[in-house]
Amino acid sequence: MNVSLNKNNTTVARVKLLIGGEWVESQTTEWLDVVNPATQEVLAHVPFATAAEVDAAVAAAQKAFTTWRHTPIGARMRIMLKLQALIREHSKRIAVVLSAEQGKTIADAEGDIFRGLEVVEHACSIGTLQMGEFAENVAGGVDTYTLRQPIGVCAGITPFNFPAMIPLWMFPMAIACGNTFVLKPSEQDPMSTMLLVELAVEAGVPAGVLNVVHGGKEVVDGICTHKDIKAVSFVGSTAVGTHVYELAGKHGKRVQSMMGAKNHAVVLPDANREQTLNALVGAGFGAAGQRCMATSAVVMVGAAKQWIPDLKALAQKLKVNAGSEPGTDVGPVISRRAKQRILDLIESGVQEGATLGLDGRDITVAGYEDGNFVGPTLFTGVTTEMQIYTQEIFGPVLVVLEVDTLDQAIALVNANPFGNGVGLFTQSGAAARKFQSEIDVGQVGINIPIPVPVPFFSFTGSRGSKLGDLGPYGKQVVQFYTQTKTVTSRWFDDDSVNDGVNTTINLR
Ligand code: NAD
Repeated sequence: MNVSLNKNNTTVARVKLLIGGEWVESQTTEWLDVVNPATQEVLAHVPFATAAEVDAAVAAAQKAFTTWRHTPIGARMRIMLKLQALIREHSKRIAVVLSAEQGKTIADAEGDIFRGLEVVEHACSIGTLQMGEFAENVAGGVDTYTLRQPIGVCAGITPFNFPAMIPLWMFPMAIACGNTFVLKPSEQDPMSTMLLVELAVEAGVPAGVLNVVHGGKEVVDGICTHKDIKAVSFVGSTAVGTHVYELAGKHGKRVQSMMGAKNHAVVLPDANREQTLNALVGAGFGAAGQRCMATSAVVMVGAAKQWIPDLKALAQKLKVNAGSEPGTDVGPVISRRAKQRILDLIESGVQEGATLGLDGRDITVAGYEDGNFVGPTLFTGVTTEMQIYTQEIFGPVLVVLEVDTLDQAIALVNANPFGNGVGLFTQSGAAARKFQSEIDVGQVGINIPIPVPVPFFSFTGSRGSKLGDLGPYGKQVVQFYTQTKTVTSRWFDDDSVNDGVNTTINLR
């Protein structure tokens, strides 16, 4: 164990780096506390790696690539099979650590790990996922085929809100494709990520194939500008994701940036009332609203607005408590800073004239008085100019807008710059078909509030929620983590006829 939960602040573990197969204590002078958001207990100290340590991690990955790229696909696949078995075996133990450092409930922490485990399971199919294409006889005796080759050292930069799922979106698929990897987990909750990395090492990922450096802006910028890194996967906020996309792109890397969101749920009056209200409350307030696919704006169409009192009543019933307490629905938000930002945005909503139907600001949780809690908060009478609508709040705050028709709802959603997820609630197939066709959002749920695709598909957020063409996991990420090489070949029989010099570009 390189990290552990420890109630004594003076002896908490220092989170290690992983470089070339060695667990290394950073030589940095800059350390950050990893804090339990329900109690403010310091769980560990995380280093901000030095530039030399980042260089060493990339060099280890570069060295390992020379052999790993030639490791047979079956051998890579068997490591993924072992890794998925180990994650399954250790999931409950990791969920406890994840809940402690991130704040989400134990059940949701297990879900965080499970959604990442599904990607590892899919990585076990790399044999068929990484196949090239073949066309016989494209010209006389000429065949053309493609190889999907690994690209080299890839890097991943991950956010705090899914410390298991999002690292597992990245390194298993990159490694299964034959690349080596440098991971930079969120500095706010790196411990559960490290437990997964330990399992990867135990599963047989060779030294240097997976490396981990910790840190913030300087380490991220070091990754984005490093000459030996070929591709960068980023998940996090829009401001940082845009910076990473531009900086890494300028330095010649492939980049995919999955970023912030404002996800709408459009409710038609013919929807199943109870199921819809359950979905809105679960997706709006689950994980304290700290999901990139959380429902954060509800658009009530026509008579659906009559359901607002029921929505409020259901939200009011949610139990706010530490994630480790049984029966908790809503845990704390990640940090005091995050809480203050949420409170400021709520205040802006009040100042800008929205109606605060449910106010979660003054909540105290018995036994956890120091926790970063915000109770479920509901605004009605919201307009599209208000900051509570234009900003991603990333807290347990749901804003409700009202329109008269489905067309108006579609126009409203399409005018919002984000395009991560959207839900439609209806019993009308015709309305659903029109919606899925006309809505300009990359991931659509029909009576599904959080439509995160399973890993045989890809995560396809769009517009302001994503930069780069290819999304994480699924077939798209195999394209992202491989280079297509096209081979055009011709073999001569011993008795082939001399067909002379060809000075044209045509194959014949
Ligand atoms: P964040 O952008 O603050 O941090 C993400 C990563 O960037 C971290 O590893 C962090 O160390 C690093 N970082 C932070 N500031 C930096 C800077 N100035 N320069 C360079 N690197 C920096 O995001 P977060 O608060 O950890 O995560 C929440 C955000 O992530 C939300 O906006 C959420 O919507 C988004 N998110 C998006 C998706 C998606 O798939 N679209 C999934 C999960 C989370």
